[in-house]
Amino acid sequence: MDVLKITPRGYCHGVVDAIRIAKHVGESTPGPVHMLGLLVHNTHVTDDMQEHGVKLVDAPDRLTGLDKIKDGTVIFTAHGVSPAVKAKAQAMGLNAIDATCSDVIRTHDLIDRLVGDAYEVVYIGLRGHPEPEGAVGHGPGKVHLVQDAADIDKLDVRSEKVAITCQTTLSVWDTDSLIAKVKERYPQAEVYNEICLATQERQEAAVAAAAEVDVVIVVGSTRSSNSKRLVEVVEKKGGKPAHLIDNLEEIDLNWFRGVKRIGVTSGASTPSQLTRKVIEYLQELEPPA
Ligand code: SF4
Repeated sequence: MDVLKITPRGYCHGVVDAIRIAKHVGESTPGPVHMLGLLVHNTHVTDDMQEHGVKLVDAPDRLTGLDKIKDGTVIFTAHGVSPAVKAKAQAMGLNAIDATCSDVIRTHDLIDRLVGDAYEVVYIGLRGHPEPEGAVGHGPGKVHLVQDAADIDKLDVRSEKVAITCQTTLSVWDTDSLIAKVKERYPQAEVYNEICLATQERQEAAVAAAAEVDVVIVVGSTRSSNSKRLVEVVEKKGGKPAHLIDNLEEIDLNWFRGVKRIGVTSGASTPSQLTRKVIEYLQELEPPA
């Protein structure tokens, strides 16, 4: 089959840094080492970490996750944590290592400044995802998490000073329309779009490539927000079918009936050797009858 390798794709700087930090800690630190949640949202990466001796603590939220750790080292993941989590880890006497992506730290600093200036912040993000949990924790009661239009209708912001910001890995286009909806309710709101460059570039490349292919394969894990958003933007903005796969075994040949060209991209936390295997497999594939 004819395969278009969509670029840029795969690892972003935040994921590369987090993996480097965690591997170094796992190899050089005595005592148990824990990652508080999935270091990055890719099962292959986190399985590899566990093989390197880093224990996974997976809990509904970071604060309760800490309760599962007795001693040793805790790694805060690329998604960042709230100040309350940092304070609790310190009170527990844990050796804390922060692998938060620099782009997420920038959002935390922004929220700290806004809340310090008496703003209320409307934060567009995904409920249950660790990045909003950490960001909202930078201004409890002052940062309002909204995921969709229905949440925006229910907003009750009292301050005259309002700001809008967002999770780094959202859909560029869906976020623009949610920002516009918040602005309808609070025209005075200042907008700080925090979708990171890595997310934006991968989405724009995938949508542009959709015009040249019949179907797009996104290599990434189901817990990866940016991988799932790639599927969404190809379907909604690019107008082509897209499928998320975590590995080769998840490919369904029925997707390729009548298909002449396949686009392949991958989420920001997907190892490149995995994507390479998928590309090689698809290149060797005979078009299904
Ligand atoms: S997707 Fe963006 S915010 Fe998330 S780790 Fe990568 S660069 Fe950082």
